[in-house]
Amino acid sequence: MNLSLSDVKTFSEWMNSAGKKDLSEIIRYFYEKSTEDERSALSGSACRIRDMHYGGRVYFRGLIEFSSYCRNDCYYCGLQRSNLHAVRYRLSEAEILDCCEEGYALGFRTFVLQSGEDMHYTDLSLCRIISGIKERFTGCAVTLSIGERSRDSYKELFDTGADRYLLRHETANEDHYRKLHPPELSLNDRKRCLYNLKEIGYQVGAGFMVDSPYQTYETLAEDFLFLRELAPHMIGIGPFIPHKDTRFAGFYHPSSRHTLVLLSLIRIMLPKTLLPATTALGTVDDMGREKGLMAGANVVMPNLSPLKHRSEYSLYDNKLCKGWEAAEHLPELARYIESMGLTPDFSRGDHADLQKGGAPA
Ligand code: SAM
Repeated sequence: MNLSLSDVKTFSEWMNSAGKKDLSEIIRYFYEKSTEDERSALSGSACRIRDMHYGGRVYFRGLIEFSSYCRNDCYYCGLQRSNLHAVRYRLSEAEILDCCEEGYALGFRTFVLQSGEDMHYTDLSLCRIISGIKERFTGCAVTLSIGERSRDSYKELFDTGADRYLLRHETANEDHYRKLHPPELSLNDRKRCLYNLKEIGYQVGAGFMVDSPYQTYETLAEDFLFLRELAPHMIGIGPFIPHKDTRFAGFYHPSSRHTLVLLSLIRIMLPKTLLPATTALGTVDDMGREKGLMAGANVVMPNLSPLKHRSEYSLYDNKLCKGWEAAEHLPELARYIESMGLTPDFSRGDHADLQKGGAPA
């Protein structure tokens, strides 16, 4: 298999028309049979198709993990409510704005506010936070990643100024979803939230963990089909990493290889998607973030949360919160990205179809 740019267009069209069986076969091929040369041709093609739409720009987002409380009990997550060992913290509205202030001075123009599903933050308090950010830091985008809420709540937050929303669907297969979540959570609800968010006007992010327990080629193919149907603006994927206080403790030793293949395939299938090289990828592989960018990703999200809380937002074991994960090391990260031939970009970094003046060349 030798993919040239014209082949990659054909491949992209093929990925957009392939059924479940063909998608599962192509994933199987790249996981099990492909040579190193074929995988590097795949990632090279993914980068070329990314650069056609984003001109080699890598967008920077400042991540603020503002609460480790969660009302849910997702079986894989270290923040699950029944984890009595988890350290719980909440940032006040003023502390969240302080993080943004620090981020703004560092150059960030997108803030990603993430938390467990913590109902302590009412619509009213979230609206105060969003309007506070919008008033003080003009021109910045606000991305929320705070879980499932009612349509009315999403609408109110959007009307107040929230621009984007990240809500991974986790898996598009019903049975698989049930193996990862307690009975009170449902794939239908999760999907409904995503469609509501899109209809309201958010730039929406979906996604899933790679190598999550019970994931198969067939469930992955269903993920691809769902992503094709939803056509989200952003897709977050990263390796599943076991957490010691969950039922999946020691489930297996995670690696970056499968995530890198899927990043490239997703880039080729949905060329304009904003695709982060995630913290989880950097956690399982020292060079994970760089390899993610070389596989077709175009977003990085350094951590802006207060230092004293960073290790407490513990979704999985050994989660990175130092070095290039930390916003304090921004200049080194930006320089490194430049040395890779890419362009660090601190602008809002909207989806190519929504950038004023059209997509960057
Ligand atoms: N509460 C929000 C939600 O439900 O979307 C956002 C926070 S949630 C902790 C963010 C993401 O972390 C989840 O969507 C999940 O994919 C990921 N995550 C949780 N546990 C993980 C693990 N053990 N390994 C890798 N990723 C994990």
